Amino acid sequence: MRQGRLQGKTVLITAAAQGIGRASALACAAEGARVIATDIQQSLLDSLAAASPAIEVALLDVRSDSAVQQLAQRVGALDALFNCAGMVANGSLLDCSEADWDQSFELNVKSMFRMTRAFLPGMLARAQTPGMSVSVINMASMASSIKGFTNRCAYGATKAAVIGLTKSLAADYVKQGLRANALCPGTVDTPSLRGRIASAADPVQAEKDFIARQPMGRLALVDDIAPMVVYLASDESRFVTGQTLLVDGGVTI
Ligand code: NAD
Repeated sequence: MRQGRLQGKTVLITAAAQGIGRASALACAAEGARVIATDIQQSLLDSLAAASPAIEVALLDVRSDSAVQQLAQRVGALDALFNCAGMVANGSLLDCSEADWDQSFELNVKSMFRMTRAFLPGMLARAQTPGMSVSVINMASMASSIKGFTNRCAYGATKAAVIGLTKSLAADYVKQGLRANALCPGTVDTPSLRGRIASAADPVQAEKDFIARQPMGRLALVDDIAPMVVYLASDESRFVTGQTLLVDGGVTI
């Protein structure tokens, strides 16, 4: 039988109940990882646990420092941490309220700072074992410092901050066996994207517009993104750190 690419590894994923996080949890489990899938939606987590015996689930609101600390104590050392949680606040600078701005930074950036602080000591200890490397994967976006998009003021600012945070982690811990990379997807067909399309004034046109900006002529599927998460969590990417990995269907050609 083929050895899974993540055999023996423990991978924790935030926002894993649906969308990219869920597909990533399933893909990591299929490659032999023990997966800890966390989210705020218990019923969807339950259905994820039912889909694979390698997936353990835990309710986790990444905005709660105490909940994050408790989970880190309970779970122990990780080989890979995928900080996937994030939200889109729609609008230009003049549309963006202080509440939108603050919520976006809280969920998209501070949660990664908080999660990584909680799990980093255990990961660094694990990386001391000869031949071991540990990996932090932070969910950014092509809408960030990579490329500007209309109506993505707070979102683009947070995802650019994620890239900066990721590069600082990579620089500070490269000699201790920790790798940190930022994943930058194009437009992915997920429940949150479907929500944005449905809430547009003209949903049919909104979907056409999202597709029109994709040179490949289609939205990304979650299964177009999950293989990059597997790669970054695996030892195949052992010489890759501090990078922004675009999976964008050619938008930034
Ligand atoms: P999604 O809406 O399909 O799933 C988001 C998940 O986040 C949900 O399961 C939700 O319960 C969970 N969540 C919300 N608040 C949370 C909290 N406080 N704590 C823990 N979990 C919470 O989203 P998606 O489209 O798969 O996006 C996932 C990530 O990918 C986000 O960071 C997003 O910015 C990023 N991203 C998405 C796209 C896209 O086009 N869909 C493109 C680039 C980047």
